[in-house]
Amino acid sequence: MERKALLKLAEELSNARGVSGFEDEVLAVLRRHGGHLGELSEDSLRNLYLSRRENRGGRPVVQLDAHSDEVGFMVRAVRPNGTLAFTPLGGWMPCNIPAHRVLVQTAEGDYIPGVVASKPPHFAGTGERNAVPAVEDMGIDIGASSREEVLRDFHIRIGAPVAPDAAFQYQEGRDLMIGKAFDCRLGCAALVQTLDLLAGKDLAVDVTGAFAVQEEMGMRGAAVTANRVKPDVAIVFEGCPADDTVAEPWLVQTAIHKGHLVQHKIIVIAAVRAVNAAQHRKGAVRPEAGPHPIGKVQADVEAPVAGKAHRGDLDIL
Ligand SMILES: [Zn+2]
Repeated sequence: MERKALLKLAEELSNARGVSGFEDEVLAVLRRHGGHLGELSEDSLRNLYLSRRENRGGRPVVQLDAHSDEVGFMVRAVRPNGTLAFTPLGGWMPCNIPAHRVLVQTAEGDYIPGVVASKPPHFAGTGERNAVPAVEDMGIDIGASSREEVLRDFHIRIGAPVAPDAAFQYQEGRDLMIGKAFDCRLGCAALVQTLDLLAGKDLAVDVTGAFAVQEEMGMRGAAVTANRVKPDVAIVFEGCPADDTVAEPWLVQTAIHKGHLVQHKIIVIAAVRAVNAAQHRKGAVRPEAGPHPIGKVQADVEAPVAGKAHRGDLDIL
């Protein structure tokens, strides 16, 4: 895949709105860019599978894994004043939410702009100014002035997905990308690129790419893809959090311009099952991160396998 085509894929994937449970736009991009690389299929959760045409069964199976969803929000209620109460999807820290520009899906499936509002400093008491507002006290302001207006004119419904609004940009001179949802859309791009690199090659294994939904909500999609593909080896493409601005230099694992799994490199994790490998890997790389609870799908992993995956991760990074 040409570098220009890869950047275009990264741009379309990053811009696609696909909070957990609403990954449709992401799947459309993946189908458009990856459909020629193998057989496409979906399950009822909307996990997308891309299997090499050369697969013939009776051989070891390699699963390439990435997730299609991103963190975002969902409309929880419409207030009488026309602002939208919302609930986070994925592992947000409340201090990072206010002042975000967002896009709210309408009943027709379009997205309209909004901004996450909190109480202005002019009206905040002394204690409130320095405190992080609770999510329950924030609201998405779409410019409506009443509940009726929200429902009648803006066509916003309870349960509507809300995606962060951040257009992808690439600075050629600095070779820098800025945008949203790099976790894990760049993993999705890397997966497509990998299948592209393998196209037409004679392999000793069958290879299936699986784009899992709802990873940010407890790995719901991957629990299904691992059981459907039943891989012998899993290669997980995941967007690790960047720690080069927060960690001691000797602890840094993911640093800008130091090589990154979502640009050109592939992180390989061998384990018994795909989800088990993914779970353990995340435990190793970001032990204090909240949104990836260890699920029961991990329970059957043998300890030596997990330990091996951990050391491999750290060595690679
Ligand atoms: Zn991720």
